[in-house]
Amino acid sequence: MSRRKFLGLAGAAGASALIGSSAHSASNKHFEGYPNSFGVLHDITLCVGCRSCEAACNRVNELPQPDVSFSDVSVLEQKRRTSSDAFTVVNKHANLKNSKVPIFNKIQCNHCLEPACASVCFVKAFKKTEQGPVLYDPSVCVGCRYCMVACPFDIPTYEYDKAFTPRVRKCTLCYPRIIEGLLPGCVESCPTGALKFGKRDDLIKIARDRISKKPEKYIEHIYGEHEMGGTSWLYLSGVPFKQLGMREDLGIKPAPEYTAGALSGVPIVVGLWPVLLTGIYAMTKRKEKVADLEKKECVKEAIEKEKADANAKLAKAMEKAETDKKTAIDKAVKKALEEASKAKVEG
Ligand code: SF4
Ligand code: SF4
Repeated sequence: MSRRKFLGLAGAAGASALIGSSAHSASNKHFEGYPNSFGVLHDITLCVGCRSCEAACNRVNELPQPDVSFSDVSVLEQKRRTSSDAFTVVNKHANLKNSKVPIFNKIQCNHCLEPACASVCFVKAFKKTEQGPVLYDPSVCVGCRYCMVACPFDIPTYEYDKAFTPRVRKCTLCYPRIIEGLLPGCVESCPTGALKFGKRDDLIKIARDRISKKPEKYIEHIYGEHEMGGTSWLYLSGVPFKQLGMREDLGIKPAPEYTAGALSGVPIVVGLWPVLLTGIYAMTKRKEKVADLEKKECVKEAIEKEKADANAKLAKAMEKAETDKKTAIDKAVKKALEEASKAKVEG
């Protein structure tokens, strides 16, 4: 979706914004997502914390092997967040209903219907696709990292360890796989059916059906149906989402409304925003240029040193050859003189 369309939608929605409504019971009056777009329903009550989804994500995205194997569930003892090497992580939570059975919840990019990351990116490095995934294009990214600040779910991460071509990293909802008709890696690998892939509209119906058939098992809230204008990733739980560290204060307004509001509330930012970002862009480019020059300078110095060393070696070799030649001549002359003198004596 283009930024223009986002802002257009946000503007249209602004007139009927349900300010202050909770996402729990509200209906979405904003952009309701592309028809037939895909999503995933994560039924948290079925997740056993096996980390198969993490392993599959690592494999299909060809991410670096972690220090701790995916079969080691001791990592669940710490709260983790996504990283440039792990686009999804599972966290363990205390179960206030039954202390013997912990609750596990998988986190990753929620693929918002109107993503905050896309709405703040002035070079349009993020795009909401018609299929559902929110994709990132590193070739246009200028590294301002405003997307990281804007994401309400704290998802995008950055390759701080890469000096020359760092990228923002996050889940792609396995876009390359789903356009080929394959399931996202995590969904395919989940042994318990805790992850269900499908059309977002169908998933909402399935979620409602599960809640109505087992009201004692689920709370009456499909997380992601309305939060921040809705997300492609949806969640069902047996306990309030807040107990799982999930934000329940997000409301139902899509991100572009918040970012527009936030920016217009800070006049200096409105006026200077393009200038600031252009400045960051220029600084980044200058840094690259300086690094490039430094690299060229180093190569030049190395070549010159190599040349000087070779010349010195050649001069030394020539000098030695000259000395050897002179010694050989002296020796030959001496021998000839000795032979002549010997012939004279004998004659
Ligand atoms: S969860 Fe964050 S990174 Fe993912 S689409 Fe939404 S705003 Fe963007
Ligand atoms: S693979 Fe399924 S059951 Fe295992 S941790 Fe991931 S979501 Fe939970």
